[in-house]
Amino acid sequence: MFSKRLKNLNPYVPGEQPQNRKYIKLNTNENPYPPSPEIINCLKKLNIEDLRLYPDPQSDNLRQKIADRHNIDKSMVFAGNGSDEILSFSFYAFFDSAFGNLLFPQFTYSFYSVYCSFYEIEYLQIPLNYDFSVDLSGFLEEEHSCGVIFPNPNAPTGILLSIEELTDFFDKYHSDKVVIIDEAYIDFGGISAIELIESYKNLLITRTFSKSMALAGLRLGYAIGNKKLIDALFAVKDSFNSYPSDILAQKIGAIAISDERYYKEITEKIISSRKYLVDELVELGWTVVPSKANFIFVAKKGVAGKDIYLKLKDNGILVRHFDIDGIKDYVRITIGKKDELDILLNKISKYF
Ligand SMILES: *Cc1c(COP(=O)(O)O)cnc(C)c1O
Repeated sequence: MFSKRLKNLNPYVPGEQPQNRKYIKLNTNENPYPPSPEIINCLKKLNIEDLRLYPDPQSDNLRQKIADRHNIDKSMVFAGNGSDEILSFSFYAFFDSAFGNLLFPQFTYSFYSVYCSFYEIEYLQIPLNYDFSVDLSGFLEEEHSCGVIFPNPNAPTGILLSIEELTDFFDKYHSDKVVIIDEAYIDFGGISAIELIESYKNLLITRTFSKSMALAGLRLGYAIGNKKLIDALFAVKDSFNSYPSDILAQKIGAIAISDERYYKEITEKIISSRKYLVDELVELGWTVVPSKANFIFVAKKGVAGKDIYLKLKDNGILVRHFDIDGIKDYVRITIGKKDELDILLNKISKYF
C-alpha cells in the first residue's frame, strides 16, 4: 500500500500553530505587524470571476515587480509557493551527491536535511565557529562537495556574514557548483548578496514573503540568480505543479513588494524592538547571540532551554526550543511588538 520512499521520509517539524489557546506567539518568526495596507484595496477590487481561470503559470507580473524592486531582469527571478517549495525545487535541480556531499552548517534551518533525505542527497554538516558564526572556510576545506547552502543571517542563531566574507568565499569555491544563500531574514539589518549575482553565476538567492513582508499565510517566495539557474527551476516546477502560486498570491505579492515605504517602517520598528529586548536581557544576565534577524537566540546560565520554553508556555508565551546537543541551552525568541516583549520580560524576571 505504501512506497519504499515513504518509509524513508524524515519530515520537518514546524513550530507550533496552536488553534485553541491564545498565546503571545514568539515561536515561528512571523511579523507582528500587518502586511501592506494597499492589499485591502486590491482585494476590494477583485472580480471573483477571475478565480474561474488558472493563474499565469509564469507569474510574469509578480516577477516583473520583484525584478523592479531589485533592479534586475525578470529572467533572473523565479516565484513559488513559499521559499520552502523553491528550496525543494532547488535541491532537486542542483544537488547530486554523485559529485560529492551537499554542505551546510551544523546548526541551521532544519528543512535542509529533510530535503536531502527526500531526494537522497548525501550531506555533511560543517561545525559553526566557537562564536556560533558560519564557518565558510570549513566549506572550502571539504574536497568533494556538490554544492553549499546556508541562510544569511543564519537560523536559529541570527548571525550575519558580511558581503566581504561572501565574496572571498565565492572567489575560492568551485564556480560550477551551486551555492544557495537563503535570505529569509536579510531585511532585518543585513546586506543582500544580490549585488554578487552578476559576478557569480553559481549563486542562487532565495527570499520569502513570510517574514519581513508579513505574509506567511499567503505562501509566497522567490529566487534570484543567473537565468540558467532560474530556467532549471522552471523545468522542475513544470514537472511538479505548473501553478504553484495562485491568483491571489500573485496579485497580493505584486502589491506588497512595491510598497517599500510601508515595509521599511515596520522593519525599523522590529529592529528597534530587537535592540530593546537584547539590552534588557543582557541587563538581566542572559547570554544573547548578536542577531540581524527578527529573532534572537538566548540562554540563561544554569537553566535548561527546555525549562525556559515550558515555563513561558505555561505563562501564555510561545518561544522555540531545539532539543539538539550543542544548542539545547538556548531558546529562539521572535521579536514581537513592544508590549508583547514587556510581558515576556516581566515573566522572565519573575521566573529566571
Ligand atoms: C521561514 C524560513 C523559510 C521558509 O519560508 P516560507 O517562504 O514561509 O516557506 C526558509 N528558510 C528559512 C531560513 C526560514 O527561516
